[in-house]
Amino acid sequence: MIYFDHNATTPIDDRVLEAMMPFLKTFYGNPSSLYRHGRLVRSAIDSAREQIAALVGAQPTQLIFTSGGTEANNLALTALKPRSKLAISAIEHPSISEPAENLAMQGHELKLIGVDRNGLVTQDAIDDIIKNNPVLVSIMLANNETGVIQDVACYAQQLRDKGIIVHTDAVQAVGKISVNFNQLYVHLMTLSSHKIYGPKGCGALIFERNVGIKPMILGGGQEQGFRSGTENVPAIIGFGKAAELAGAELAQRAEHLLKLRKLLEDRLTYIPGISIFAKDAERLPNTVQFGIEGLDGEMLLMKLDQKGIAVSSGSACASGGGKPSPVLAAMGVADGLAKSAIRISLGKSNTEAEIIEFIDLLETLVIPG
Ligand code: PLP
Repeated sequence: MIYFDHNATTPIDDRVLEAMMPFLKTFYGNPSSLYRHGRLVRSAIDSAREQIAALVGAQPTQLIFTSGGTEANNLALTALKPRSKLAISAIEHPSISEPAENLAMQGHELKLIGVDRNGLVTQDAIDDIIKNNPVLVSIMLANNETGVIQDVACYAQQLRDKGIIVHTDAVQAVGKISVNFNQLYVHLMTLSSHKIYGPKGCGALIFERNVGIKPMILGGGQEQGFRSGTENVPAIIGFGKAAELAGAELAQRAEHLLKLRKLLEDRLTYIPGISIFAKDAERLPNTVQFGIEGLDGEMLLMKLDQKGIAVSSGSACASGGGKPSPVLAAMGVADGLAKSAIRISLGKSNTEAEIIEFIDLLETLVIPG
């Protein structure tokens, strides 16, 4: 199989798996236990916390382990005061947009921050939001479908100056571009393990203590009381190792991915009727989303699947829904073209030969005669 869907999930790195194995069997102690077997596991969790914090320039005490990016995004929104105002960008992942809509049904005021045709939040939209005086604003760092990178630091600084709490979902950005919590000026930031060659079911929220997030899961008081429940030790150890590797190999991975992306985009331009979405915006080095006039994206996905190539027709969670992607709709892409969308998200093990094989096949599938 040629796997081109790394924004949906990544295969676990062998070195990550190796680091996790002892914690599945040998070191099974509960990290909250006071005897040696427990303390040893606690210290391994602390090391993982340090590895992840180091990757994003945060303090280890600023990190709360969660069951993934989805939970961390939901937890970030608990920083809202009762019946207050929040604003999110129009292109957020459902793990922000769904809880935000839920909060709106509970009496909070929700505003969407629009994006331009390149999927970028604009200064005008930020000015409008500031006038509305929200308590919390969430703007993702990199979009999972288009790969578009927002200037979060610029907007967060302005919002923070007005006393607004700022959250960014950095799930797709981490491990692909350099991410620094302090330099982004945000108060809250979401991470996920399985997008950086770590195990699934593990993520983190990086937080500034004064924002007043509230625990969603109560119990034994783990994670400084913000997320109770015995820690998912093997996954946390794996996340830590994946973060360490992502930091050490960031430049080399990004260079490789960008080279592949360029090759892919150069070849794609020759396909009649093709549009590469957000082509002119700064994007993740691994992501290309395109549409081909008159084609059905899901049908094309299935044909590629039959030939052993895994791609996405949008975000993994939204695919199969039959509706055009809300991200493309927010960018003003017409429904017909949006329904033809295919997302290629490359990973560190992909090769030039795979790109060429894909393009050759795509040409036979979409160019008549
Ligand atoms: N945020 C973004 C931008 C994502 O792409 C995803 C996963 O697709 C998530 C959050 C959710 O992360 P997780 O799968 O760890 O719950």
